[in-house]
Amino acid sequence: MRLILIGPPGVGKGTQSALLVERLGVLQISSGEIFRREIEANTDLGRLAQRYISHGELVPNGVTIEMMAKKIREPQAIKHGFVLDGFPRTVKQAMALTEIMDELDESLDKVVSLEAPEELIVSRLSARLGCTRCGEIYHAVNKPPMREELCDKCDGPLFVRQDDLPETIRERLRVFREQTAPVIDFYKDKGVLVTINGSLEAEGTYALITAVTAKV
Ligand code: ADP
Repeated sequence: MRLILIGPPGVGKGTQSALLVERLGVLQISSGEIFRREIEANTDLGRLAQRYISHGELVPNGVTIEMMAKKIREPQAIKHGFVLDGFPRTVKQAMALTEIMDELDESLDKVVSLEAPEELIVSRLSARLGCTRCGEIYHAVNKPPMREELCDKCDGPLFVRQDDLPETIRERLRVFREQTAPVIDFYKDKGVLVTINGSLEAEGTYALITAVTAKV
């Protein structure tokens, strides 16, 4: 299965892709996660990405497309299928993805657009905590970890993402409306788009997603 999860920051793309990976065995390819790993490893790409991410802006298309193309072409992704989380985020990236898929003689099964009201998104992001080791996502109020600063699953240290600060959240939402909303129309025109309510709790939204993907 080859899926894209698209939607504003905080709508649950990361949470839902983690569930899809765990339960359906597909591979998660998250552009944001890859950038965060590059930043942590202090690579050239990481240093470049950091300059944009810390302001809530998008990393330039050229390097992003190159990085994601490499992952999509890996034998593991071809064999197990994938869920793309955070890519494509611009129409240029969506067009590049079409070319990559054509080259591989593959096609996308569905593009899932997750929607939620802006107030909910802001409240989710401003209380979000992530595990530095396994990527598990928590929420200080709705899904608190059992121990204050440690992951329930792997004991890794939890952190607040630097781009989850209030001003940066607002900038990311603006960038979403301007640059990523047109990608949703791009896939609507291709007839592969489904819109799903992302304001339910994680299992509720997951059930809606799998109801759609089961028909693929
Ligand atoms: P969220 O969806 O919560 O904003 P992500 O982890 O998907 O979080 O992305 C974090 C940041 O990484 C984005 O704000 C952006 O700066 C950068 N980024 C991620 N994916 C892309 C992409 N496809 N193109 C450009 N920049 C990206």
